[in-house]
Amino acid sequence: MQRGRPAREKARGEACGCESREIASIEHQWLSSKARSATVSMSHTGIMASCEHLKTAKHIAPRVHVCEKCVEMGDRWVHLRTCQTCGNVGCCDSSKNKHATKHFHATQHPVMQSAERGEHWRWCYVDEIMDGE
Ligand SMILES: [Zn+2]
Ligand SMILES: [Zn+2]
Ligand SMILES: [Zn+2]
Repeated sequence: MQRGRPAREKARGEACGCESREIASIEHQWLSSKARSATVSMSHTGIMASCEHLKTAKHIAPRVHVCEKCVEMGDRWVHLRTCQTCGNVGCCDSSKNKHATKHFHATQHPVMQSAERGEHWRWCYVDEIMDGE
């Protein structure tokens, strides 16, 4: 029974007087005024953007821990990425040959995942969205 609390108590406790703030609606106004301009791609704070590719992609582990294309060329790479459509392992964009990105351009396979140990993030080339860590 919370009703009928003594008024004394209220005064002593100095009710914080917090009114519901209107920040959310201000933000809304700002967003809708900006919505038609080009900068809608900003992600809402706290919400991880995702796309159909990332949602529906398989989980394919790398079957090798080399970039086979680089090995063929006798070249080196920095990091490895695994195609989540066919399992192709290619080197990252920090690598000279960017075989993972080239694989996407050649095949349109949209999602790759880092093949580095301890890294689980995925990347959609089509929507340019990262997922996970
Ligand atoms: Zn996508
Ligand atoms: Zn490579
Ligand atoms: Zn592929």
